[in-house]
Amino acid sequence: MSPTDATVGPAVLQVRGLNKSFGANAVLRGIDLDVPRGKVVALIGPSGSGKTTILRSLNGLEMPDAGSVTVGARGATAGSEPAGAGGSGVVPQLPALSLDFDAKVTPKEIAALRDRSAMVFQHYNLFPHMTVLQNVIEGPVHVQKRPRTEAVAEADKLLDRVGLLEKKDAYPFELSGGQAQRVGIVRALALKPQLLLFDEPTSALDPELVDDVLAVIKELADEGWTMVIVTHELAFARQTADEVVFMDGGVVVERGPASQVLRNPREERTQQFVRRLL
Ligand code: ADP
Repeated sequence: MSPTDATVGPAVLQVRGLNKSFGANAVLRGIDLDVPRGKVVALIGPSGSGKTTILRSLNGLEMPDAGSVTVGARGATAGSEPAGAGGSGVVPQLPALSLDFDAKVTPKEIAALRDRSAMVFQHYNLFPHMTVLQNVIEGPVHVQKRPRTEAVAEADKLLDRVGLLEKKDAYPFELSGGQAQRVGIVRALALKPQLLLFDEPTSALDPELVDDVLAVIKELADEGWTMVIVTHELAFARQTADEVVFMDGGVVVERGPASQVLRNPREERTQQFVRRLL
């Protein structure tokens, strides 16, 4: 495979014609989205434009009314796998998965989708009655049925990496927001997903805690993880994202290289939005 092919890579995520309504409120209206392997896409747009609903649809937390989601096989081009993707390069080689929401999607397909995409939530969503370590190994051990000793060893490594190994026996209430979100990120990584989804990962944090969390996410991007990030941090999006997708009213208004969309948007709605935030 040539370096160019490796850079563009096959799509890890392909979304086609995604529609979702809540009652009379058409929240997603024909969303298409492609994320090549190892690329980072930032989803930006005003509140209520449907960004979170897209992420939740990609993680089986929301059931779209129509459209399809395909998560490509990792390992199809094993030779070109970014060294860091998967943390230790041992992301399981799962076959590609295609969900067609025009037909009936089964719980088994939703479980398979969750096996491939892991979400980092705005409010961390850690289990309050579990320690940090228990939070991190819950998915690998109880959902993915991996051996506990292996899951603990990997959790230790990941926690160490984000500077939180000494907090492994702490409970979520004993953590700062920044620490809790780093645990949220570790918990997602521990699932060894093909795709990482971040939903406003820093918007609940005090300003002085934001940079630490963004630094971890940037590091993961540099390592070659494939990610979709919903964010209002446009400076961060400019540094980290390969592509920026601007949404409004349930449709994609504009998409392109981060520098183009953020510095030189073509559409007036994007211009207004970007001008307000940058
Ligand atoms: P964004 O992430 O861009 O702020 P969301 O995807 O959270 O937008 O929401 C898009 C729209 O969908 C909003 O009008 C919101 O009120 C509505 N919505 C989201 N989730 C639900 C739900 N579970 N039930 C009813 N309406 C919802």
